[in-house]
Amino acid sequence: MSATAEQYFPLVVPATSLLLGLALLAGWRSLRDHRYLLWLAGGYICTAFPLAAQILMDNARMATWSVLTGAMYCAGSWATAQGFALRSGGRVSGPAALAISLITLLALFCFSRLDDVLGARIVFLNLGMGLLLALALPVLFDSEQPDTLFERLLRRTYLLLVAYAILRPLLAWLLAGWFTSSGLPRSGLWLWMLAFNLLLNLWLLFLLLGGLAQQLMGELRHERNHDSLTQLLNRRAFFEIANHRLQHDPARPWALLACDVDHFKQVNDTWGHAAGDNVLRQVGVLLQQMTRPDDLVARFGGEEFVLLVHCHDLPTAARIAERIRVGLSQMHCSPAKQSITASFGVTMVATAQDLESALERADLAVYQAKHEGRNRLILSPSQDGTDCMLPDQQATP
Ligand code: GH3
Ligand code: MG
Ligand code: MG
Repeated sequence: MSATAEQYFPLVVPATSLLLGLALLAGWRSLRDHRYLLWLAGGYICTAFPLAAQILMDNARMATWSVLTGAMYCAGSWATAQGFALRSGGRVSGPAALAISLITLLALFCFSRLDDVLGARIVFLNLGMGLLLALALPVLFDSEQPDTLFERLLRRTYLLLVAYAILRPLLAWLLAGWFTSSGLPRSGLWLWMLAFNLLLNLWLLFLLLGGLAQQLMGELRHERNHDSLTQLLNRRAFFEIANHRLQHDPARPWALLACDVDHFKQVNDTWGHAAGDNVLRQVGVLLQQMTRPDDLVARFGGEEFVLLVHCHDLPTAARIAERIRVGLSQMHCSPAKQSITASFGVTMVATAQDLESALERADLAVYQAKHEGRNRLILSPSQDGTDCMLPDQQATP
């Protein structure tokens, strides 16, 4: 490589830093509530400029501009730390970050204007950047984020980045007596250090974006499977999970409960749609409270709810439905604290193939309960009648 090519080749590093910053900025523009992306973008962009300047300058110029480039490095590290802290649900301490930045800049001023000592500048700058990055560590290791593999790797990589920033001058001094070098930006060791720093940052971003993609997929999956008003399962997810359970654990008996709130239109007409929504939310909470965690509770639309409950026979299913019916009637969730009642259809589900017809049986039973005066439950035995047996009479599959 010619001398000029050798000089300009390291510009790949700030150019990559700038591009990563711009990519994060573009990411933030479409994911505005992920504000940490903006801080991280700022961190990468702020660092790209002093890095490029340093590559293009000789040591004498670097001394002249060291306070300005140092300020940009500090701003970059501060923004990066703030980004990682925000991502974990916290913030870095502003006064601490300001104090570290000012001390670093003061040291850079002293060791460039008063006494030109390259080694001292390198130590203070790297120490300052490392300490600024370290401000995010307590938040990162006390994070609200789920403890996934991505998250664990991300925390450790960030810790490595902090340690590397702090130990970098010592490492360079031990390896090559770097501080006495007259051609710092063009030394081989410096290029290796730049490359390692770049790889570390790329790996960190890969983990960050991988974690973000995982989180977004989880949110999309949740939205796809849940009703936005009650946060209960929607019809589609109910069928998917119920089918899976019935297919993969056919020995386990399940009951299907369909429930329709009585005269719900009157709640809307009397108290308004918002009050109606509130009643539906509270019905959803009660249904979940009165069932076990592995039972399924879904809102099929409007004021209709469907439950898949693990129980051995129709009489037991009837007792569960009755308990819920009484619970609802005692809830008093309308604005005037009037009681809410519901009509129930109860049947057993034997197999995944039986699910659709079980739902039809339960719907017909609800219809009959409405017809007979509401606020009651109607049992609908399956065709073969096995669902009325006691647990020890159940046919073994
Ligand atoms: P019945 O006892 O026969 O079931 O009478 P009902 O009034 O409960 O049933 P109907 O089917 O006549 O009315 C259901 C009402 O539920 C009408 C509709 O405006 C209301 N509704 C459906 N979805 C929502 C919703 O998401 N929020 C609110 N507030 N109301 C809803
Ligand atoms: Mg109704
Ligand atoms: Mg209805």
